[in-house]
Amino acid sequence: MHWIDAVLNPSILTRITEALKKSGARMTKKRAQILTAIGSFSRPVSAEEIRQQAGLPNSDLVTVYRNLEAFEAIQVLQRIPMESGAQLFELTEPGAHYHHLICRVCHQAERLDICVGAEVEDQASTRGYTGVTHLLEVYGVCGACARAAC
Ligand SMILES: [Zn+2]
Ligand SMILES: [Zn+2]
Repeated sequence: MHWIDAVLNPSILTRITEALKKSGARMTKKRAQILTAIGSFSRPVSAEEIRQQAGLPNSDLVTVYRNLEAFEAIQVLQRIPMESGAQLFELTEPGAHYHHLICRVCHQAERLDICVGAEVEDQASTRGYTGVTHLLEVYGVCGACARAAC
């Protein structure tokens, strides 16, 4: 499934609401505004972009981060680290995670159809590690940006 199909699918918001309820958290007005804001983009976005899109004041950036952490904790939001150290966020189906191909010029990010998780995590558990997670993001210059530079 491609990323854009996933975010525009309204059933995702319903499922995220259910996951929040199950975790004991409430769907507040601000949470709904933040979720709708993230879902309205067709690409992963920064916390600042989310704040602006949600129509929240500057002073609410901390609140945005706190809510993003809450969504991350119930595994409906994925944090995408950029090479620069900046972070982008995207909604996912509950419990799903993705790896991305990210353009370092325009910051477009596409989901990859592969996950190296099982192999890597097998090695970790063989070595006695528990609670293992993994991150894999691939950076490059997309075709459009490469052509624009010519
Ligand atoms: Zn690009
Ligand atoms: Zn993976």
